[in-house]
Amino acid sequence: MRGINRKKTMTEFIFIWVGLLFIVVLLSSVVMITYIAHHAAEESVSLSLGKELRRYKLYIRTQDSFTDEELNDLIEMENCHIVILDDEGHYIRGIYDEEMETAVSAAVNTSMRVREIESGEQDYYILDRSIKKSDVEKTGGPKDEKNTGKPDINNKHGTDYYIRAIAAVDSIDTMYHELQQKYYMILALLSVIFVLVLLYVYNKVMRPVNEIVEKAKQISESHTYSERMSEDEKFYETEVFTKAYNRLLDHTEKLVDQQEKFNSDISHELRTPVSLILSECDLMQEMYRDEMPQETMKSFDLIKNQCYRMKDMITELLYLSKLDQENVTDRFECIDVLEILESIYEDSELLLQGSRVLEKDFSSVNAEVDLPLIMIAIRNLVTNAVKFSDEGSVIKISDKYDNDNIYISVSDNGRGISKEQQEKIFDCYYQVSGERNNGGFGLGLTLALRIAKIHGGRIDVQSDVGKGSVFTIVLPRAKEEK
Ligand code: ADP
Repeated sequence: MRGINRKKTMTEFIFIWVGLLFIVVLLSSVVMITYIAHHAAEESVSLSLGKELRRYKLYIRTQDSFTDEELNDLIEMENCHIVILDDEGHYIRGIYDEEMETAVSAAVNTSMRVREIESGEQDYYILDRSIKKSDVEKTGGPKDEKNTGKPDINNKHGTDYYIRAIAAVDSIDTMYHELQQKYYMILALLSVIFVLVLLYVYNKVMRPVNEIVEKAKQISESHTYSERMSEDEKFYETEVFTKAYNRLLDHTEKLVDQQEKFNSDISHELRTPVSLILSECDLMQEMYRDEMPQETMKSFDLIKNQCYRMKDMITELLYLSKLDQENVTDRFECIDVLEILESIYEDSELLLQGSRVLEKDFSSVNAEVDLPLIMIAIRNLVTNAVKFSDEGSVIKISDKYDNDNIYISVSDNGRGISKEQQEKIFDCYYQVSGERNNGGFGLGLTLALRIAKIHGGRIDVQSDVGKGSVFTIVLPRAKEEK
């Protein structure tokens, strides 16, 4: 639409923000679930390993003697190993796999929490508890040089030994890991549901809005005020908007109709008196040519000049009102654009009498046009090029075409039109301020654009202030030619 820059659409806005929110919620949920599951798993492993260690300790305390194998048989938890460490944390008893070496030799920590240690290729949970040295040494005792089978005399203060439970992280398929997987699945399902609901809501809410936007665009571009928006809207907001828009269109249509009627009436009413004044002036000048003083003769010439201006205006107004009333497309004929342009070029050369350098560059291509109308449109562009350029400057009339369109251009290197004015020059009666005396009425381009539109075309303007302008009538190529 003219005057509206490419802005972010509501759809883009909604999807960007909801999308970002969705990603943030999704990521934080994943982080939260992973964190909770990890800690819950640790807690659960802690409890299980703690249970194993308690049973182990009880057995050691209550038995007079035990072998490593007996101790190993006590362990109920799968893939769990328990070792006994001395008061300095060195291994003394228990069966373990080779790759657990690092887990076995890790520093002792009897805090309540289970720890995760990397050993060999795997991660292991380890849990340490203290055990009375006397309980271990009263029977069997340590296997190293301290393993004397007698109570340790150095352990006056009852220094503790330690027992350590070790379990591979991977092998512990705790309920919490399963739960984590389930949470992820629920999250994925919720995400799909969320996206579907979002699309559904978007479709329900944005479809009517998009339809309104499309219709508004169509109405504003078609320059007709007869079309209306459907008021059968589901939402209060869209209904209020469409009703208001339609009321505005009713009002505009009424105003446009009134303006057209006024144009038509005034041109019909003025045509006869203006013609009469002209012919009377001619008659008076003819009849009293010899007796009439020079001053009176000049006054008659002035009256006639103004009458010709009015006549031109009336003709343009009449054409405008006719275009609105008649179905001109019935009169379309297939004509070579080159012939039209040659004829306009010759007329212009005669009129200009060398005051401007007139150039041409014509190609032969057929268009389906109403000849008198299309000639008026092109002539108006040429007249403007002359009006708004200096004597001796170059005016070029040319045409080219592509597969679909024909481009008829009139270029000048006159004073040019600013960007803001380019938006308005096609409006009825618009003239750049201070131009009331240029011999026009601000109707030439309005008429030219209406004619181009009737032919299914448009008019493009390229102009730089002080450098000149190029007005291009774009027409569709004749169907049988393509
Ligand atoms: P007018 O009868 O005043 O020429 P138009 O509708 O033909 O009315 O043009 C409207 C206004 O557009 C003109 O008054 C003028 O300011 C501007 N204009 C049109 N063509 C040109 C041009 N080739 N160069 C500069 N200004 C132009």
